[in-house]
Amino acid sequence: MQLSFRAVRSAWPCMIACAAIATSTLPAHAVITLDADFDHGSLQSFSTAGSTVNLAGRDNFYGSNQWRWVYFKASGVNGVNPNFKISTNFAGGSGAIANHNFRYSLDNENWVPFDNHGISGGSFQFSNNNAFAQDDVWIAHSIPYSYGRVADQVAQYKLSPFVSPTISSDANLVIGQSPGGVDDLGRTIAPRDMWGFKLTDNAVPSAGKTQVVLTSGLHANEVLGNHTLEGTIDFLLSNDPRATELRKTTEFFVYPLLNPDGRFAGNNRATIQNPNQDPNCCWSPTASSNWQNKPDLKVSGEAMMADLQTATGGEAEYFIDYHSTISNLADPDDFMFLHPEKGHTADPFWTNFLKETSTVFSLQSTSTGPTSANFGEIELGAAFDATFETAFHPTRGVDYYEELGKDVGVAFFKALARIKADVNADGFVGIGDLNVILANWNTNVAIGDIDQGDIAGSGDGFIGIEDLNIVLGSWNTGTPPPSIESLIPEPTTLSLLTLGTLATLRRQRR
Ligand SMILES: [Zn+2]
Repeated sequence: MQLSFRAVRSAWPCMIACAAIATSTLPAHAVITLDADFDHGSLQSFSTAGSTVNLAGRDNFYGSNQWRWVYFKASGVNGVNPNFKISTNFAGGSGAIANHNFRYSLDNENWVPFDNHGISGGSFQFSNNNAFAQDDVWIAHSIPYSYGRVADQVAQYKLSPFVSPTISSDANLVIGQSPGGVDDLGRTIAPRDMWGFKLTDNAVPSAGKTQVVLTSGLHANEVLGNHTLEGTIDFLLSNDPRATELRKTTEFFVYPLLNPDGRFAGNNRATIQNPNQDPNCCWSPTASSNWQNKPDLKVSGEAMMADLQTATGGEAEYFIDYHSTISNLADPDDFMFLHPEKGHTADPFWTNFLKETSTVFSLQSTSTGPTSANFGEIELGAAFDATFETAFHPTRGVDYYEELGKDVGVAFFKALARIKADVNADGFVGIGDLNVILANWNTNVAIGDIDQGDIAGSGDGFIGIEDLNIVLGSWNTGTPPPSIESLIPEPTTLSLLTLGTLATLRRQRR
């Protein structure tokens, strides 16, 4: 983003005056300044009084009882233990913000929750127990996921033999450009690349494969959706035998960032073009204000229509849009908005997903409005359309969301690619499956429980010779587990692990 000096100054009315105040109350070297003028950064303004930093969040669209996006760099904090304050109005009221921890990062990469947080004196406050030991730290409302990170990820995906352009994307997996515009701080946000790609085993013909559409980043601040989607894609591209098998039966159409302008500009939910509107508003094919008339939604909508219709004649089986949310701290569940009346809760993807996770539940989707999921159902023909909400919690790091995303992939494997004889669901029929049969030999299990080996016919609840013969008849099919050698980390991986451990130790000392 190119900014004129005037634009920066007008967006940061407090920067000069507050620095002067801070000088008189802090040690000479500790002049705290904040900067949010970078990819995904967001803050309206700030002021300081001693080591207290008063924050004002930005006012672009947040809807009712929703959380907003704050992300900035604080400089001059070496030896200082700032107490940050922000209005409780900032996140739709005290109820929403009380269930939340701000996070900080020493490297703009690894994020840890502040030690203390809570509502006091009419404001939400957060701080650490000890002073920072370096001059620059990054602070955010959640775990950031910048536009640049999506761009970097897509550049990596492009190198995989299992990723290819869709009908609508070019060799760089670009489906078009966002419209850009001028944001609520008066900054010009340039148009940015938008992406779409197909992920499958191209050596297996497309005929007969199941089509799954995965999207994220429609609400600019809902960064956990992108972390979760990244976990799904990492699994789908991996050498895990389950992923290998799944790629043979399934085509994933992925659109990782539906609102790049809003994400880059640090918006809360909205796009730059329509800052006062929820972009999950307008995905109906019939409404007068539908996606086709909105430049901020049109690129994605047209790409998905072209990609799926060309590939399948307009039929996807699954459509999942990854979002994120804040839930009760004591009960931080993730959920999917589903339609039980359409059979979603009995869908094999969903039943298998529940087995993989312990934190996810379903919520009846009461929306008849034109959300992206309804676009998936109506325009793309998806029988299973869901909005996936992953919940923020201070004890959850990036690993949690990436693992949850992997669980999505494993559930798709079990629903769409697991063969019956693969009793232990590892993508291969061999000794592991035989051992399950033998462990349950001559016993009764729940009828049709294939995890326990009841695979003969439609299941008779008894584990015996018929089940054994199915395993032996499919012996050595599927993808064998990785060899022992490939499980030994490369030297570079080992050194990265060491660095990661050191970083963890440093953070724990704080
Ligand atoms: Zn959302």
